[in-house]
Amino acid sequence: MLKEEKVFKDPVHNYVHVQDRTIWDLINTKEFQRLRRIRQLGTSYLTFHGAEHSRFSHSLGVYEITRRIISQFERNGYEDWPQEQRLVALCAALLHDVGHGPFSHSIEEAFGMFHEDWTCRIILEDSEIHQVLQRIDPALPEQVAAVIRKTYAYPIVVNLVSGPLDADRMDYLLRDAYFTGVNYGTFDIDRILRLVRPYKDRIVVKESGMHAVEHYLLSRYEMYWQVYFHPVTRSSEMVLRHIFKRAKELYLQGYSFRYFLEPLDALFEGTLTTTQYVQLDEAFVQTAFMQWINEPDELLADLCQRFIERKLYKYIEVDELNAEWLCREWHAAGLNPDYDIMFDSPSDNPYDVYRSGDEPTQQHILLWDGHDQVMELSKKSDIVRSISGIRRGNHYIYFPMDKLQAVEHRLTDEVKRMFLQRKN
Ligand code: CA
Repeated sequence: MLKEEKVFKDPVHNYVHVQDRTIWDLINTKEFQRLRRIRQLGTSYLTFHGAEHSRFSHSLGVYEITRRIISQFERNGYEDWPQEQRLVALCAALLHDVGHGPFSHSIEEAFGMFHEDWTCRIILEDSEIHQVLQRIDPALPEQVAAVIRKTYAYPIVVNLVSGPLDADRMDYLLRDAYFTGVNYGTFDIDRILRLVRPYKDRIVVKESGMHAVEHYLLSRYEMYWQVYFHPVTRSSEMVLRHIFKRAKELYLQGYSFRYFLEPLDALFEGTLTTTQYVQLDEAFVQTAFMQWINEPDELLADLCQRFIERKLYKYIEVDELNAEWLCREWHAAGLNPDYDIMFDSPSDNPYDVYRSGDEPTQQHILLWDGHDQVMELSKKSDIVRSISGIRRGNHYIYFPMDKLQAVEHRLTDEVKRMFLQRKN
């Protein structure tokens, strides 16, 4: 424990309280400080200009919510909460996103990486974080990594950090709503935190908290469609993914870049070490993009310019997608189907506002009657039942309007009707 509690001023939780020396030391490692240079919402700042908040602030928020829940359990002396798990839970909450890379989703898709893997590598391999954890207990790094991998021997700890009503989601909904400035993400977190209980191997909510939980799920529903799947954000992610794809393609062909920074070579070769990985942040990749605007490779230069100057791809929304036909049309008009058209079906994303079920699993929210009965949320809530399992079927097609207009005379009428008459 620290002699004196430390606090961070936070716009969402007002204050983040640090009482443990271990948590304080982890925050001060270079790997954790790097999260200040990675935005929580990637390219969303191109759609919602307020969305400049970092993964650092989100990670502190997840830690704070976890700390508040555990402290409530301890104050009330609930027997289902294993008290000796406090530090493991707090460390896992704080570190759960430490492996996120710059513009995480795009870089992961472009290079087939997974941030969970990097989080575990940073915790387990040679890093300042590893040293801090290991000094407390040689078993601690492995325990924290097991919580992240969801294989930890105490499922209740996993459920607290990553479950259907976890500290991660509660923080990002409130934080992302605050910084994007939208009006939908808010819900009564204080009430939820007061009414969560440890029950057998998981976290449940007292029945009287049902309406607060409904509100939380509705916020999730709104945030997905209004913020996370916003087509302009998706467009910028696709341009970004194409920059990474083109740069890697050129590198593997032996192209000699006018501007090149280590460890981009290791990134393109897929041989990054953890030390190299933590050198990557958003300032780093944006510097490369700025410089690549002057590369002789026209495709790379064009994509980088679009991203930096926010000249993104335009989009249309369709009920059905005939990707093969469109790629043929693009090819026939002299466009490059690999780069000049992109398809996106947001409903394919692993998003679930809530999925009900007859057999309660770790993915369900359970209401507790105050005695010994628990019930899956949608059995009791009409609202949750109505939004449970919803998937939308829209598809989006993205394309560079200027390039399409330049080959207008070669397009068939059908293609022109679909693409060139679009407003905006
Ligand atoms: Ca997170």
